Amino acid sequence: MMSEIIIKFPRLDIFPTNKCNLLCDFCHGPPKGKVQELEIGLLEKVIDIFKKQFDLQTISIAGGEPTLYYAFSTLVSKLKEDDIKIRLLTNGTTFKKYSGILKTIDEIVLPFDGYDPETFEKMRKNKQLFNEIVVHLKEWYVPNQKISVGVVASKINIDYLHEIMKKLGEINQIRLKKHYSPVYARIFMFAAQSNGAKWKDKFEINVDKFYKAIQTLKKNKELTKWVSHCIDCESESYTCLMLYPGGDVYLPEKDRFIQLTNIYNPEWKTELITYFSLNPTHYEKLMQSHEQNNCRS
Ligand code: SF4
Repeated sequence: MMSEIIIKFPRLDIFPTNKCNLLCDFCHGPPKGKVQELEIGLLEKVIDIFKKQFDLQTISIAGGEPTLYYAFSTLVSKLKEDDIKIRLLTNGTTFKKYSGILKTIDEIVLPFDGYDPETFEKMRKNKQLFNEIVVHLKEWYVPNQKISVGVVASKINIDYLHEIMKKLGEINQIRLKKHYSPVYARIFMFAAQSNGAKWKDKFEINVDKFYKAIQTLKKNKELTKWVSHCIDCESESYTCLMLYPGGDVYLPEKDRFIQLTNIYNPEWKTELITYFSLNPTHYEKLMQSHEQNNCRS
């Protein structure tokens, strides 16, 4: 049996809210409908426990749109006080409004699923946002902050991934001329999970098609210089613990999410430790994933 002392969770992915101001068809975020948000007081306590007892070092915050979380600035302040690194996946719509807070984040990830407003709209149902994101990517620079984009590869855009990378390359040329750090990209394979399941036919591609597109891209090193990870099909499951807006803690496995506990249950910590004590191979895979930094979000 694994003892409590040696269990570490250096990374946690949290989805503090399921609120979002976009309506992307392929969204596989937490189910929408009724708004669910993590209660900030409880979340702070959970972060304390993860930090003190599980050696938490990095939190990835996604959603929904995480800047719409009712206690977004409180959460960021808490993580800064605790010296926990923050990776924020935002859709970019509130970039100007929260620019002050965004300067304090360690890594910002914006969507980049098309190469112009029309192709972007096919994925995100918002034409105007593409131009706004391009402006942010060209102009935003904070020393020591990483800025990245996430590309969701699907049936819609798989045949022009190279155009998307080319556009990113043009943006990076502009950044490098100004001595800014480049924008990095991660390409994800669309997965028909949760909310997104109903759009399976419209968006889903198989792993072979995804690999083929990635291999073709990789042949052109100029285009993929800044693509740090092409994940999901390359990573094994058990990538990271995920905390959802309703308090459920999940461990993603290839075709399903395993629910481990719920933080509104006073026994959540014991349940978490017990699960990994009974499933040590899952814990080992989780640790390998942390070491390789291939978490899917
Ligand atoms: S994919 Fe992201 S931006 Fe789009 S609706 Fe879902 S949570 Fe919002």
